[in-house]
Amino acid sequence: MTAGMDTFRALLITRDETTKQQSVAITTLTPADLMPGDVDVRVEYSTVNYKDGLAITGKLPVVRRFPMIPGVDFAGTVTASTHAEWKPGDRVILNGWGVGEIHYGAYSEMARVSGDWLVPLPAGLTGSEAMAIGTAGYTAMLALIALEKHGVAPASGPVVVTGAAGGLGSMAVTLLSSRGYTVEAVTGRPHEAEYLRSLGAANIVDRGELNGQPKPLAKERWAGAIDTVGGNVLANVIASTQQFGTVAACGNAGGMELPTSVAPFILRGVTLAGIESVRAPKAARVEAWRRLAAELDRAKLAAMTTAIDFHAIPNAAHDIVAGKVRGRLVVTIS
Ligand code: NDP
Repeated sequence: MTAGMDTFRALLITRDETTKQQSVAITTLTPADLMPGDVDVRVEYSTVNYKDGLAITGKLPVVRRFPMIPGVDFAGTVTASTHAEWKPGDRVILNGWGVGEIHYGAYSEMARVSGDWLVPLPAGLTGSEAMAIGTAGYTAMLALIALEKHGVAPASGPVVVTGAAGGLGSMAVTLLSSRGYTVEAVTGRPHEAEYLRSLGAANIVDRGELNGQPKPLAKERWAGAIDTVGGNVLANVIASTQQFGTVAACGNAGGMELPTSVAPFILRGVTLAGIESVRAPKAARVEAWRRLAAELDRAKLAAMTTAIDFHAIPNAAHDIVAGKVRGRLVVTIS
């Protein structure tokens, strides 16, 4: 199976096995260089997520095979397929499945993947919008669905979002407020307060309020939470969750540890819901993307999105790991 391109450009991470130092460069590849898969896709748009930042900077061992083309999300058009579900011309999205970690990823004009990993681009969304949403938005929707499943409704009380000015956080604020929730946005960047209000946040909470040593229980403040940060912030959010509230744990931008106790769970019936987007089943993905296409305010999506080109990916990777990126990045790939 071959696609339409004889050669194409890709961002490649290589590693010196002696020094264990990795380097990143744009290179030219041929279809024969790609890893096995039953669908070829011309990649049109991608994005830079926190995880992509970790992969490119090497800050955490996201990449588990070298060399690697990073990039965990893409939108594009099928150019060749031996998979029953897909034919040339189909518009598709890919999020996760180890792409950009163990399988060649999105920062490449051509990708070869398993057709089982793809979902159709929902009607009403462009490829660029799909990548403005990306794994961040799709995960925020999985988190919102988890809160709903556990009975957190707009009438239950305010819902808090941590890491709110980041990609997943910005999407969570927007989606929750569009559903009628009162959203409180936790940020370490007070100068982004106006931006967060424009996405629908009713109240801004300084990250410093939640960074301290967690107590087992604190004053009940929130009916629900979408956390992207982990660490002390998540522990303090859990301690401040109302009786029978639910906290959706999505991320680790502030740390992997969780210094909490069983008190919120056995004395307040708090639920801690884990959100895992990478291997989420197809039905959950399709439902999340259907709801994103139906519910997401396009003007707010545009307001949180910055377009960058292929060459800007490495710098963006350093910026996102340093917590300097606001909202979402869209990369034009081809
Ligand atoms: P971003 O970098 O865009 O957002 C992270 C935000 O966290 C920052 O903008 C900042 O928000 C806040 N933050 C950064 N550093 C710290 C710190 N040291 N302490 C507390 N807060 C901090 O990343 P993404 O939105 O792409 O991803 C967010 C997290 O979600 C990551 O950990 C990522 O790995 C995870 N994730 C998990 C998925 C899953 O399947 N579970 C899927 C996608 C992402 P502010 O400046 O507003 O405080």
